Amino acid sequence: MKHFSSIYNRRLGLEPPSIYEYFLDNFWFKAAGLENEIINQPLRGSHQADIVIIGGGYTGLSAAYNIHKKFADKKIMILEGACCGYGASGRNGGFCVATSLIDVNCKDTHARKRNLKVSLQGLDQIKEFISVYGLDCDFDEMGMLDTAMNKGQVKVMERDYRIFKDWGLNVEMLHGKDLEKEIKSPRYIAALKMDHGATLNPAKLARGMKKIVEDMGVEIRERSLVTRVIPGKVNHVDTELGDVKAPVLVIATNAYSHKLGFFQNRVFPLYTYVIATEPLSDQQWQAIGWQNRQGISDYRELFNYMIPSADGRIIIGGSDAIYYDNDRIAPGNNKSVSQLILKDLVETFPSLAGIKIDHAWGGPTAGSLDRQPSVGVMGDHHNIYYGVGYGEGVPSTQTGGKMIAELMTGEKNEFTEHFIINRPIPYAGPKFLRASFSILKKWYMVNVVKNAGHL
Ligand SMILES: Cc1cc2nc3c(=O)[nH]c(=O)nc-3n(C[C@H](O)[C@H](O)[C@H](O)COP(=O)(O)OP(=O)(O)OC[C@H]3O[C@@H](n4cnc5c(N)ncnc54)[C@H](O)[C@@H]3O)c2cc1C
Repeated sequence: MKHFSSIYNRRLGLEPPSIYEYFLDNFWFKAAGLENEIINQPLRGSHQADIVIIGGGYTGLSAAYNIHKKFADKKIMILEGACCGYGASGRNGGFCVATSLIDVNCKDTHARKRNLKVSLQGLDQIKEFISVYGLDCDFDEMGMLDTAMNKGQVKVMERDYRIFKDWGLNVEMLHGKDLEKEIKSPRYIAALKMDHGATLNPAKLARGMKKIVEDMGVEIRERSLVTRVIPGKVNHVDTELGDVKAPVLVIATNAYSHKLGFFQNRVFPLYTYVIATEPLSDQQWQAIGWQNRQGISDYRELFNYMIPSADGRIIIGGSDAIYYDNDRIAPGNNKSVSQLILKDLVETFPSLAGIKIDHAWGGPTAGSLDRQPSVGVMGDHHNIYYGVGYGEGVPSTQTGGKMIAELMTGEKNEFTEHFIINRPIPYAGPKFLRASFSILKKWYMVNVVKNAGHL
């Protein structure tokens, strides 16, 4: 793909990624007792493999799972700089909406069916891990509620309702008493209730996927930070302590990709933060009326996403998305955003006034100007596969991994012909302007459009 050769550069490895500096108060690892789990040995010495996957998040693990299913005799190696699930995959909000890969502009009925099948595959794959391999990730498939707080948002919601109905999805628009049966908040004036969707412990999912692919025979090296990639017919991959050569490479480094020279000025790290409240009392749960335990988000530009945890807390993220100057990989905490999230939670549910934050953390998502993922293959030798830029990535990264495996077969099907395949990622402008642009955009959303969280 010619146009893609411009989105990675050959002068790679000038600035190795520094991703170890975090202090993360990630509730999910704690809740799953994973903090002290033994992680794999780093790669040492020189090696060869058929396929090297860089990044042990959902994209890398799902790619390994699906590639192994198609090419069982190939030697597949995952190189993960920290531990599998260390990135966004192990610290997200656990909010799993299954319809994010729908092409809302598609009018053709046959194409829609294929598109919907692809979009729902992510959730189906997670269910396959649970039912076939016994993966336990506190999976709760209770659907989703998307809420509106003003008339402008209701208008957009009505449009979405029509689109989803048209697609044959089971959705309802709720108002008044019907809405109160699902959730009680003085702020919500309408909600879109959708059957497809689930909540889960993301760290358990990532670590569980690690075990599944490892048991299949995939070699996983953790603590193996890739410091340089030299693309070629045979790709050379250097880590801090070793190196590996492979004819096929998969870039599954999402928000960290630019650090290796990939997707420069197109995909950039955009930080989102999450808090876990202390456990709610029975009275508090009753007061907010959230008995059906769906994941809830809202229609604001800087929206919040929240889920109830298995042990009775509210896990809520959002309120602000921060771009740190010069594509910086920043610490995984931001006290002021945590406070914004808490303030917003209490405005949504005033009966929770005084509730405390037990854990607060965050991390980078892979931002792009049009907020759409891209999965494809690039390089002069057409041998570097990738999947980046997911917004609601919990299910769509699962699909991204499947798409990568399908692309490797060279077959044409609904996955390899999906609209995100080889989708050109728009130029995001020079780094030095990006921080100012992000501030201006937020100001515009808050003060002019008046459709943002608390800033
Ligand atoms: C705080 C937060 C909350 C979120 N909440 C939600 C949510 O509720 N619902 C939802 O759907 N999505 C959510 N997302 C987005 C979702 O988590 C991501 O889209 C998804 O996990 C991306 O998966 P990935 O495998 O592509 O990337 P990652 O999980 O980030 O994996 C990339 C991996 O690559 C490794 N890596 C990077 N560079 C190197 C290198 N040079 N060498 C070796 N390894 C390297 C990293 O250590 C990392 O483990 C959230 C994201 C964040 C950060």
